[in-house]
Amino acid sequence: MSFEQLGLSAEILKAIDDQGYTEPSPIQLQAIPPILEGKDIMGCAQTGTGKTAGFTLPMLRLLQPNANTSTSPARHPIRALILVPTRELAAQVHESVKTYGKYLALRSTVVYGGVNIDQQIKELHAGIEILVATPGRLLDHVQQQTISLSKVEILVLDEADRMLDMGFLPDIKRILMLMPSTRQSLMFSATFSPEIKKLADKLLNQPVLVEIANRNTTSELVAHVVHPVKKEKKGDLLVQLLKLHNLKQVLVFVRTKQGTSLLTRKLQREGITTTEIHGDKNQLQRTQALEDFKQGVAQVLVATDVAARGLDIEDLPYVINYELPNTPEDYVHRIGRTGRAGTKGNAISLVSEDEKELLADIEKLLKRKLLIEVIPGFEPEKAPKPALARDIRNTEKNKDNPDQEQKRSRSYDDTKPNGAQRLNPRVNRNSYGDSRRNRKPDDPIFTQPYVPPLASSNDTAIVEAEHHSGDRSHQRAYGQPKRQLPALFSPPVADKDKHKNNE
Ligand code: AMP
Repeated sequence: MSFEQLGLSAEILKAIDDQGYTEPSPIQLQAIPPILEGKDIMGCAQTGTGKTAGFTLPMLRLLQPNANTSTSPARHPIRALILVPTRELAAQVHESVKTYGKYLALRSTVVYGGVNIDQQIKELHAGIEILVATPGRLLDHVQQQTISLSKVEILVLDEADRMLDMGFLPDIKRILMLMPSTRQSLMFSATFSPEIKKLADKLLNQPVLVEIANRNTTSELVAHVVHPVKKEKKGDLLVQLLKLHNLKQVLVFVRTKQGTSLLTRKLQREGITTTEIHGDKNQLQRTQALEDFKQGVAQVLVATDVAARGLDIEDLPYVINYELPNTPEDYVHRIGRTGRAGTKGNAISLVSEDEKELLADIEKLLKRKLLIEVIPGFEPEKAPKPALARDIRNTEKNKDNPDQEQKRSRSYDDTKPNGAQRLNPRVNRNSYGDSRRNRKPDDPIFTQPYVPPLASSNDTAIVEAEHHSGDRSHQRAYGQPKRQLPALFSPPVADKDKHKNNE
């Protein structure tokens, strides 16, 4: 089905065309029609699936009859509120609103913390139809009476799971009380925990469930590899991987802010251009760090989990877990930065003995064993038990049950079996758990033929060396084509208990 058939207006179609999108992504196909019918939506989709356009396009269409060029603020009440957890995501979503709504006389703005409030007040006073906001700053505006939510017709709660993780639930409840109860509500979440279900029950009215990625799973296009290593050797191993394989555009996750700075300095000492991003950095520093990374000025971006959400960098080829996250869901979020929009990605984890249980939790959540590969010279304390190819095959076989590949768009009550549609459903799996598409995928837009740049001499050497050694897994993990594209967007923010500072 094309965008034209979805019931969007000529102005919106023109904006889509300007973006070069020729077909809707699966989540757009599923979400746009029920939203246009005025239904509530519970969307289970990771970033990278096109979900922002999935809710923004129909939202603009629904608001279009109210578009006007009057200078009177009274003619521009807030009709749609998009709540997001972080300022970076807020800026990103607002960009999308402006992009897709550029031919409509609808006004929009974005409010988040960490920046001067006066400019925001000025724009709000002029009147806007669409507001993108983080909860803390939105409530600041409510308190200062610079905002009224009494005319909101559409509420979008984006990355709802992250909102809960960051402790925004009380703020969300307060905000809900300021809006008419007759509104249309759309909620999106990458993971689907019992808490999310509870919030959905409260917020949504007979919602349609649209679900793209399997709950709590990572993209099919991401190759995962675990390198067991002694804790104190992780830094050296990382340097070796980066230098030997000449990895470009690598997002490295660590657990703490202090760890971020230490690792950044180590990599810089090794001559690797590295920048860092974490909750203690101010907005300017974060923006600069991200920009350097996107532009290729920095080869490596070291980040805490604050960067795990909302960071949209096209074709980010590598995510490295220098340390595993404390919760397996965060692994999913971290890895969600790669393998986006139909491109292949690589998730590499350096795992020390004390992280064994975290790894087990991740494998349990993903319902699959991850490939384990010891790098010579970096052997761990204890020899790891390698995942048997047979185990991997079995878990993969279960996942690929073709009965589960039907497109889902169903009533929210019908949530029992996990039959979500995947972006690239039919895959062949070899004994390493690697996935190779064997047919034209459902959504060519997201899976346009990948044209790798000419491999550098370094790349070629790696692939050749691995070919000779017969180590195909290695080739998969590091030998994939790299492409540097302009990055699209920003990292999120904030430690749980400091969320307001970080908005
Ligand atoms: P999102 O999941 O909203 O973060 O979107 C991920 C990326 O997909 C963004 O860079 C969008 O510009 C892009 N995108 C969204 N919809 C489409 C589409 N129908 N065709 C191609 N790219 C798209």
